[in-house]
Amino acid sequence: MAEQPGTLLYYLKRSTEFLEKKEIPNPRVDAEWLLSDLLDLPRIKLYSQFEMPLSQKEIDLYRERIVERSKRKPVAYITGKKGFHQFDYFVSEDVLIPRPETEELVDYLFKQKETLKEEFPEGIQIWDLCSGSGCIGISLAQLLKPNTVVLSDISEKAIGTSKLNAEKYNLTDIQFYVSNLDESLPNDLQFEVIVSNPPYIPESEKEDIMPDVLDYEPHLALFVSDIIGFHRSLFSSAKQRIKPGGWFLLETHPSYIQDLESLALSMGFLSPKRILDSSKKERFLFLKTERQIES
Ligand code: GLN
Repeated sequence: MAEQPGTLLYYLKRSTEFLEKKEIPNPRVDAEWLLSDLLDLPRIKLYSQFEMPLSQKEIDLYRERIVERSKRKPVAYITGKKGFHQFDYFVSEDVLIPRPETEELVDYLFKQKETLKEEFPEGIQIWDLCSGSGCIGISLAQLLKPNTVVLSDISEKAIGTSKLNAEKYNLTDIQFYVSNLDESLPNDLQFEVIVSNPPYIPESEKEDIMPDVLDYEPHLALFVSDIIGFHRSLFSSAKQRIKPGGWFLLETHPSYIQDLESLALSMGFLSPKRILDSSKKERFLFLKTERQIES
Protein backbone atom coordinates (compact mmCIF):
# COMPACT_ATOMS: atom_id res chain seq x y z
CA MET A 1 0.00 0.00 0.00
CA ALA A 2 1.40 3.40 -0.95
CA GLU A 3 1.07 5.37 2.27
CA GLN A 4 0.47 9.11 2.39
CA PRO A 5 3.11 11.13 4.29
CA GLY A 6 1.84 12.26 7.69
CA THR A 7 -0.52 9.32 8.20
CA LEU A 8 -0.40 6.67 10.88
CA LEU A 9 0.75 4.06 8.35
CA TYR A 10 3.53 6.32 7.15
CA TYR A 11 5.02 6.64 10.66
CA LEU A 12 4.47 2.99 11.42
CA LYS A 13 6.45 1.98 8.34
CA ARG A 14 9.26 4.49 8.87
CA SER A 15 9.57 3.39 12.51
CA THR A 16 9.60 -0.28 11.56
CA GLU A 17 12.37 0.35 9.04
CA PHE A 18 14.38 2.27 11.63
CA LEU A 19 14.06 -0.49 14.25
CA GLU A 20 14.93 -3.09 11.62
CA LYS A 21 18.09 -1.21 10.74
CA LYS A 22 18.98 -1.22 14.44
CA GLU A 23 18.47 -5.01 14.47
CA ILE A 24 15.58 -5.04 16.90
CA PRO A 25 14.11 -8.56 16.63
CA ASN A 26 10.39 -7.89 15.95
CA PRO A 27 10.42 -4.36 14.57
CA ARG A 28 6.89 -4.19 13.20
CA VAL A 29 5.27 -5.70 16.29
CA ASP A 30 7.17 -3.35 18.61
CA ALA A 31 6.41 -0.33 16.44
CA GLU A 32 2.73 -1.27 16.60
CA TRP A 33 2.71 -1.78 20.39
CA LEU A 34 4.39 1.55 21.00
CA LEU A 35 1.97 3.40 18.73
CA SER A 36 -1.21 1.69 19.89
CA ASP A 37 -0.30 2.41 23.52
CA LEU A 38 0.51 6.04 22.70
CA LEU A 39 -2.80 6.54 20.90
CA ASP A 40 -4.66 4.44 23.48
CA LEU A 41 -6.05 2.18 20.76
CA PRO A 42 -6.09 -1.62 20.77
CA ARG A 43 -3.29 -2.81 18.47
CA ILE A 44 -5.73 -4.38 16.01
CA LYS A 45 -7.51 -1.02 15.63
CA LEU A 46 -4.41 0.51 14.05
CA TYR A 47 -5.31 -1.46 10.94
CA SER A 48 -8.56 0.42 10.43
CA GLN A 49 -6.88 3.79 11.08
CA PHE A 50 -3.98 3.66 8.62
CA GLU A 51 -5.05 6.87 6.87
CA MET A 52 -5.46 8.87 10.10
CA PRO A 53 -3.08 11.85 10.30
CA LEU A 54 -0.96 12.05 13.46
CA SER A 55 -0.64 15.34 15.32
CA GLN A 56 2.79 16.93 15.76
CA LYS A 57 2.73 16.02 19.46
CA GLU A 58 1.94 12.38 18.67
CA ILE A 59 4.72 12.29 16.08
CA ASP A 60 7.26 13.69 18.58
CA LEU A 61 6.25 11.32 21.36
CA TYR A 62 6.23 8.35 19.01
CA ARG A 63 9.69 9.24 17.76
CA GLU A 64 11.00 9.40 21.36
CA ARG A 65 9.57 5.95 22.03
CA ILE A 66 11.06 4.48 18.88
CA VAL A 67 14.48 5.92 19.72
CA GLU A 68 14.28 4.36 23.20
CA ARG A 69 13.38 0.99 21.70
CA SER A 70 16.24 1.29 19.20
CA LYS A 71 18.52 1.44 22.25
CA ARG A 72 17.02 -1.89 23.33
CA LYS A 73 14.83 -0.58 26.12
CA PRO A 74 12.02 -3.16 26.47
CA VAL A 75 8.59 -2.09 25.20
CA ALA A 76 7.05 -2.69 28.65
CA TYR A 77 9.41 -0.19 30.30
CA ILE A 78 8.64 2.38 27.61
CA THR A 79 4.87 2.04 27.98
CA GLY A 80 5.10 1.40 31.74
CA LYS A 81 2.81 -1.61 31.60
CA LYS A 82 2.59 -5.26 30.73
CA GLY A 83 -0.36 -7.56 30.08
CA PHE A 84 -0.28 -10.61 32.33
CA HIS A 85 -2.85 -13.42 32.35
CA GLN A 86 -6.10 -11.48 32.13
CA PHE A 87 -4.71 -8.38 33.83
CA ASP A 88 -2.54 -5.40 33.00
CA TYR A 89 0.15 -4.37 35.46
CA PHE A 90 2.33 -1.30 35.95
CA VAL A 91 6.02 -1.98 35.52
CA SER A 92 9.10 0.13 35.95
CA GLU A 93 12.80 -0.62 35.80
CA ASP A 94 12.55 -1.48 39.51
CA VAL A 95 10.78 -4.74 38.72
CA LEU A 96 11.19 -7.69 36.43
CA ILE A 97 8.85 -7.60 33.43
CA PRO A 98 6.33 -10.40 34.03
CA ARG A 99 7.02 -13.34 31.72
CA PRO A 100 4.63 -15.65 29.85
CA GLU A 101 5.99 -18.66 31.80
CA THR A 102 4.88 -17.00 35.01
CA GLU A 103 1.37 -16.70 33.57
CA GLU A 104 1.49 -20.47 33.24
CA LEU A 105 2.38 -20.78 36.92
CA VAL A 106 -0.63 -18.65 37.85
CA ASP A 107 -2.81 -20.64 35.49
CA TYR A 108 -1.70 -23.92 37.02
CA LEU A 109 -3.01 -22.84 40.42
CA PHE A 110 -6.14 -21.30 38.90
CA LYS A 111 -6.99 -24.68 37.37
CA GLN A 112 -6.61 -26.29 40.82
CA LYS A 113 -9.24 -24.00 42.34
CA GLU A 114 -11.66 -26.83 43.17
CA THR A 115 -8.92 -29.07 44.60
CA LEU A 116 -7.75 -26.19 46.77
CA LYS A 117 -11.29 -25.77 48.07
CA GLU A 118 -11.51 -29.48 48.89
CA GLU A 119 -8.10 -29.59 50.60
CA PHE A 120 -8.57 -26.33 52.47
CA PRO A 121 -12.29 -25.87 53.16
CA GLU A 122 -11.62 -22.96 55.51
CA GLY A 123 -9.93 -21.03 52.70
CA ILE A 124 -6.34 -20.28 51.91
CA GLN A 125 -3.67 -17.76 52.76
CA ILE A 126 -1.17 -17.17 49.95
CA TRP A 127 2.39 -15.88 50.15
CA ASP A 128 4.05 -14.58 46.98
CA LEU A 129 7.71 -14.73 47.94
CA CYS A 130 9.97 -12.45 45.83
CA SER A 131 6.91 -10.70 44.49
CA GLY A 132 8.45 -8.04 42.19
CA SER A 133 5.63 -6.28 40.33
CA GLY A 134 3.19 -8.42 42.30
CA CYS A 135 1.93 -10.11 39.15
CA ILE A 136 1.62 -13.56 40.75
CA GLY A 137 0.05 -12.65 44.09
CA ILE A 138 -2.21 -9.92 42.72
CA SER A 139 -3.49 -12.20 39.95
CA LEU A 140 -4.13 -15.03 42.42
CA ALA A 141 -5.90 -12.62 44.78
CA GLN A 142 -8.39 -12.02 41.98
CA LEU A 143 -8.59 -15.53 40.55
CA LEU A 144 -8.72 -17.62 43.72
CA LYS A 145 -10.37 -15.23 46.18
CA PRO A 146 -8.14 -16.38 49.06
CA ASN A 147 -8.58 -15.23 52.67
CA THR A 148 -5.25 -13.41 52.66
CA VAL A 149 -2.46 -12.58 50.22
CA VAL A 150 0.97 -11.53 51.42
CA LEU A 151 3.57 -10.10 49.03
CA SER A 152 7.20 -9.80 50.03
CA ASP A 153 10.29 -8.64 48.21
CA ILE A 154 13.75 -7.54 49.27
CA SER A 155 13.43 -4.41 47.10
CA GLU A 156 11.52 -1.50 48.61
CA LYS A 157 10.99 -0.02 45.15
CA ALA A 158 9.53 -3.27 43.87
CA ILE A 159 7.08 -3.30 46.78
CA GLY A 160 6.17 0.29 45.82
CA THR A 161 5.28 -0.84 42.29
CA SER A 162 3.30 -3.83 43.53
CA LYS A 163 1.28 -1.52 45.81
CA LEU A 164 0.26 0.51 42.74
CA ASN A 165 -0.87 -2.68 41.04
CA ALA A 166 -2.97 -3.74 44.02
CA GLU A 167 -4.53 -0.26 44.15
CA LYS A 168 -5.30 -0.41 40.45
CA TYR A 169 -7.49 -3.47 41.11
CA ASN A 170 -8.86 -2.14 44.43
CA LEU A 171 -7.31 -4.95 46.43
CA THR A 172 -7.13 -3.21 49.76
CA ASP A 173 -6.52 -6.36 51.86
CA ILE A 174 -3.18 -7.41 50.44
CA GLN A 175 -0.28 -7.21 52.91
CA PHE A 176 3.14 -6.02 51.76
CA TYR A 177 6.52 -6.56 53.37
CA VAL A 178 9.95 -5.36 52.34
CA SER A 179 11.79 -8.44 53.48
CA ASN A 180 14.74 -10.67 52.76
CA LEU A 181 12.83 -13.96 52.39
CA ASP A 182 10.64 -14.26 55.52
CA GLU A 183 12.89 -12.25 57.85
CA SER A 184 10.57 -9.26 58.26
CA LEU A 185 7.27 -11.13 58.21
CA PRO A 186 5.36 -11.23 61.52
CA ASN A 187 6.16 -14.46 63.38
CA ASP A 188 2.65 -15.81 63.33
CA LEU A 189 2.09 -15.67 59.56
CA GLN A 190 1.58 -19.13 58.08
CA PHE A 191 0.30 -20.13 54.66
CA GLU A 192 -1.57 -22.90 52.91
CA VAL A 193 -0.07 -21.85 49.57
CA ILE A 194 3.38 -20.38 48.87
CA VAL A 195 4.33 -19.32 45.34
CA SER A 196 7.62 -17.95 44.17
CA ASN A 197 9.40 -16.88 41.02
CA PRO A 198 12.71 -15.95 42.64
CA PRO A 199 15.89 -14.91 40.83
CA TYR A 200 17.24 -18.13 39.32
CA ILE A 201 19.78 -17.35 36.61
CA PRO A 202 23.34 -18.19 37.69
CA GLU A 203 25.73 -15.25 37.31
CA SER A 204 27.81 -17.49 35.03
CA GLU A 205 25.04 -17.30 32.39
CA LYS A 206 25.08 -13.50 32.27
CA GLU A 207 26.95 -13.39 28.98
CA ASP A 208 24.20 -15.36 27.22
CA ILE A 209 21.51 -12.87 28.18
CA MET A 210 20.28 -10.41 25.56
CA PRO A 211 21.00 -6.71 26.08
CA ASP A 212 17.30 -5.79 26.40
CA VAL A 213 17.28 -7.80 29.63
CA LEU A 214 20.83 -7.30 30.83
CA ASP A 215 20.94 -3.53 30.40
CA TYR A 216 17.47 -2.71 31.72
CA GLU A 217 15.99 -5.31 34.06
CA PRO A 218 16.99 -5.38 37.76
CA HIS A 219 19.84 -7.82 38.24
CA LEU A 220 18.68 -8.47 41.78
CA ALA A 221 15.51 -10.00 40.32
CA LEU A 222 17.34 -12.10 37.73
CA PHE A 223 20.67 -13.42 38.94
CA VAL A 224 22.03 -15.45 41.83
CA SER A 225 25.66 -16.20 42.53
CA ASP A 226 25.02 -19.48 44.33
CA ILE A 227 21.79 -20.99 43.06
CA ILE A 228 21.74 -23.94 45.45
CA GLY A 229 22.76 -21.88 48.50
CA PHE A 230 20.13 -19.26 47.74
CA HIS A 231 17.43 -21.89 47.30
CA ARG A 232 18.43 -23.56 50.54
CA SER A 233 17.60 -20.31 52.35
CA LEU A 234 14.44 -19.81 50.30
CA PHE A 235 13.19 -23.35 50.98
CA SER A 236 14.00 -22.95 54.66
CA SER A 237 11.85 -19.78 54.83
CA ALA A 238 9.06 -21.51 52.94
CA LYS A 239 9.25 -24.57 55.21
CA GLN A 240 9.02 -22.37 58.32
CA ARG A 241 5.95 -20.62 56.99
CA ILE A 242 4.00 -23.39 55.32
CA LYS A 243 1.07 -25.05 57.06
CA PRO A 244 0.73 -28.83 57.31
CA GLY A 245 -0.51 -30.14 53.96
CA GLY A 246 0.46 -26.84 52.34
CA TRP A 247 1.42 -26.32 48.71
CA PHE A 248 4.62 -24.74 47.44
CA LEU A 249 4.94 -23.84 43.76
CA LEU A 250 8.26 -22.58 42.45
CA GLU A 251 9.31 -21.28 39.05
CA THR A 252 12.89 -22.18 38.32
CA HIS A 253 15.75 -22.93 35.94
CA PRO A 254 15.09 -26.16 34.04
CA SER A 255 18.77 -27.16 34.22
CA TYR A 256 18.74 -27.04 38.03
CA ILE A 257 15.31 -28.46 38.76
CA GLN A 258 16.63 -31.93 39.56
CA ASP A 259 19.13 -30.59 42.13
CA LEU A 260 16.50 -28.30 43.61
CA GLU A 261 14.01 -31.12 43.87
CA SER A 262 16.58 -33.22 45.78
CA LEU A 263 17.34 -30.26 48.02
CA ALA A 264 13.64 -29.71 48.76
CA LEU A 265 13.15 -33.39 49.61
CA SER A 266 16.15 -33.33 51.94
CA MET A 267 14.54 -30.38 53.72
CA GLY A 268 11.26 -32.18 54.36
CA PHE A 269 9.06 -31.25 51.40
CA LEU A 270 7.05 -34.09 49.85
CA SER A 271 5.34 -35.26 46.66
CA PRO A 272 7.48 -33.35 44.16
CA LYS A 273 6.03 -32.83 40.72
CA ARG A 274 7.88 -31.19 37.85
CA ILE A 275 5.61 -29.23 35.57
CA LEU A 276 6.50 -28.37 31.98
CA ASP A 277 6.10 -24.92 30.52
CA SER A 278 4.67 -24.44 27.04
CA SER A 279 8.15 -24.89 25.52
CA LYS A 280 8.21 -28.33 27.17
CA LYS A 281 10.90 -27.28 29.65
CA GLU A 282 10.76 -28.44 33.26
CA ARG A 283 10.11 -24.95 34.59
CA PHE A 284 7.99 -25.42 37.72
CA LEU A 285 8.45 -27.47 40.84
CA PHE A 286 5.39 -28.33 42.87
CA LEU A 287 5.85 -29.53 46.45
CA LYS A 288 3.70 -30.27 49.46
CA THR A 289 4.20 -30.79 53.16
CA GLU A 290 2.98 -33.48 55.54
CA ARG A 291 -0.68 -33.12 56.53
CA GLN A 292 -0.01 -33.75 60.24
CA ILE A 293 2.65 -31.82 62.10
CA GLU A 294 5.45 -34.27 62.84
CA SER A 295 5.82 -34.90 66.55
N1 GLN B 1 7.33 -12.49 41.06
C1 GLN B 1 7.70 -11.49 40.09
C2 GLN B 1 7.51 -12.07 38.71
O1 GLN B 1 7.29 -13.21 38.55
C3 GLN B 1 9.12 -11.05 40.29
C4 GLN B 1 10.12 -12.11 40.08
C5 GLN B 1 11.52 -11.68 40.42
O2 GLN B 1 11.74 -10.51 40.75
N2 GLN B 1 12.41 -12.60 40.35
O3 GLN B 1 7.57 -11.38 37.74
